[in-house]
Amino acid sequence: MFEIRSSPENGKGLFATQAITLGDRLIQEKPIISLNYEEDDGEEWMYRLYKEFTNLSREDQVKYRNLPHKLEHSLDKIRSYLHRRYGLKGEVLEIVAKSWNKLASIWSTNNVGLVTGRIGLLDGQEHTGVFLTHPRINHSCVPNTTWSVDDVRKTIKVTAIRDIAVGEEITISYINTERPSHIRKADLERYSLECLCKACSGLGKDISDQNRQRLWELKAMFWIYEEGSEDLQEDLPADLPADRRINDNEEALKLASEFVDLLKAEGLLGVEAIHGYNRLKDYIPPADDYEGYKKANRQFMEYRRMFLDVPSGN
Ligand SMILES: [Zn+2]
Repeated sequence: MFEIRSSPENGKGLFATQAITLGDRLIQEKPIISLNYEEDDGEEWMYRLYKEFTNLSREDQVKYRNLPHKLEHSLDKIRSYLHRRYGLKGEVLEIVAKSWNKLASIWSTNNVGLVTGRIGLLDGQEHTGVFLTHPRINHSCVPNTTWSVDDVRKTIKVTAIRDIAVGEEITISYINTERPSHIRKADLERYSLECLCKACSGLGKDISDQNRQRLWELKAMFWIYEEGSEDLQEDLPADLPADRRINDNEEALKLASEFVDLLKAEGLLGVEAIHGYNRLKDYIPPADDYEGYKKANRQFMEYRRMFLDVPSGN
């Protein structure tokens, strides 16, 4: 379905070798290494990473070491840990520290929180894993695939969110895309990435920024309305007026509909669409608009089935 090869702009990436259709599953894989951070007192995870790594077959060790690594670890920290724990010194310390540094950098760059249905990398989650194919996919803020994690089966799934032509690069988003470009730019700095997607540098950038700023605000407004709390799970847009409130379900329905329209306009119909249509169907009163309700509910179940493998029922 795809091959890994070099692209002029992005270095190595995944490219479609056959026509891919919306809903096609491109990747479903288990982590090559997974760690549990529970009861970790700081640096111990590096030792467990090293142990897991040495348990891999030679072939998998090579594959792991070949993964991209953009986040550097503090070599000093690793040196002092190795010295403290094993009393290593001199040349041996240097060799082991460099080797651990590479394993840890690969880990930090690529690990994914193993929590169902979440989007984005989750630092500090109890269970995280590194996968072999998933990190090979380059970032776009207008990705053509979406990904989710199944914490029961401990797998990651990558699914097409639109049709992809032969030869086209397969892309994914590393960050929260419901943000204007200056915020995304800052978020991508940790990957040393400068995104050149059409939302970041295309002709429609200004409109896209407005749309995504609005998506961000709407998410915050819904959070406050539905949870009755200003303690947002995510960061609040800086210029959201403090008195901006959704007053009733009628207003919420209008805004839920606007939210879905904005997702469509921005081509963000991945896992985000599940949340969008779920909210929309929740605010359409079936007694007033049964057809509208059915349509939104059908979309919600369809996206859930495609991206999360939840059976859609009827
Ligand atoms: Zn971009």
